[in-house]
Amino acid sequence: MKILLPTSTAGSLPKPSWLAETKKLWSPWKLAGEELIKGKQDALRVTLQEQRQAGIDIVSDGEQTRQHFVTTFIEHLDGVDLEKRKTIKIRNRYDASVPTVVGAVSRPHPVFVEDAKFLRAQTDQPIKWALPGPMTMVDTLYDAHYKSKQELAWEFAKILNQEAKELEAIGIDIIQFDEPAFNVFIDEANDWGVDCLERAIEGLQCETAVHVCYGYGIKANTEWKKTLGTEWRQYDLLFPRLQQSNIDIISLECHGSRVPFEVLDLVRGKKIMVGAIDVATDTVETPEEVATTLRNALKYVDADKLYPCTNCGMAPLSRDLAIGKLRALNAGAEIVRKELLA
Ligand SMILES: [Zn+2]
Repeated sequence: MKILLPTSTAGSLPKPSWLAETKKLWSPWKLAGEELIKGKQDALRVTLQEQRQAGIDIVSDGEQTRQHFVTTFIEHLDGVDLEKRKTIKIRNRYDASVPTVVGAVSRPHPVFVEDAKFLRAQTDQPIKWALPGPMTMVDTLYDAHYKSKQELAWEFAKILNQEAKELEAIGIDIIQFDEPAFNVFIDEANDWGVDCLERAIEGLQCETAVHVCYGYGIKANTEWKKTLGTEWRQYDLLFPRLQQSNIDIISLECHGSRVPFEVLDLVRGKKIMVGAIDVATDTVETPEEVATTLRNALKYVDADKLYPCTNCGMAPLSRDLAIGKLRALNAGAEIVRKELLA
C-alpha cells in the first residue's frame, strides 16, 4: 500500500432504508427479484460514495449484498438444506435458527463474484472483500452429515478457496476471512481452525486478511464481554499460531475494549488492521481518540504495517452515525500520518 496508514472498515455498513429495515442486524430484504438485484447495486454505489467521501482508502461492499455475513454464503451451497432449520447456540452465546448440512457440501456456482465485479467497475481504489471463515461457518450450521466440525470446516475451506480465486481474478485486492469463532474456540482454532484458513488462501497471490473480533455491539456480545475480566487475553492464545500462518493481515478489535495493546507484539511482522472505532457505542469518536489508539498500536506495529480500521461491522448503526465514525477514523489517521511525516 503506497498510502501511509490506509484506512478501511472491518465489515458491514448500514444498508439504505429502501433495501432493508435499518438499525437492525440481518433484516430481510424489502425488494425481490430484479428489483432486489438493482436495489443491491444501487446500495453498492451509495456505500462506495459514502466511504470515498469519508476518506476511506481501502473500500468494500459494506456487505450491502448480504443479509448475514455467514448464512448468505451458505445459502448458495449444495449439501445444505435451508428449510430444515435447527436452533443452536452461536459461539456459545446466543440462539439462532440455522440451516442443516444434509450431504456433501459444494459450490455449484460463484456466490459474490458478480457483486464484486460490479463494485470493481465503479472504482480504482483498492477493494477488500470479506468471506466467512471456515470455522465460523461451521459454528453457524447444524451438521447432520459430517458429524465432525474439523472435517466440515476443511470442506468449506476448499469451497472458500474456489470463491477467493475467482474474486482475485476479477481484481479484488484483499480477501478477508471473518473468524470471530477463533476468539471463542481457541483450542480448536489452534488445532485445526488456522489450518483450514490456510487451505482457504492456498495459491492466492492477492493479499489475505483474517478478522477476529469480539462481535457486533449487540446485547448478547456486550453481556459476554462483561464476563471476560479486566484484560481480554483471547488474542494472546491465538496470535502465536496466526503469526506462523501465511495470512498477510490481521484485523482485530482495539478501541474502547480491554484488549491490551502488547498482544500486537505477538504478531510482529504481519500487517495489522487496528480497530480504532468502537462499533458498540452510539457516540462518534473524536479524531484525537482515534489517534491515541493508533499511537498506542504504533508501539508494537511498524508504521508501514498499520492499517486503521473499525473494531467490527457497523450494520446495526444508523447511517449518519456510521458515516460520522468513518470520518473520525480518517481524521484520526490523518493526525498520526502528519506526526509520522513531521
Ligand atoms: Zn467483527
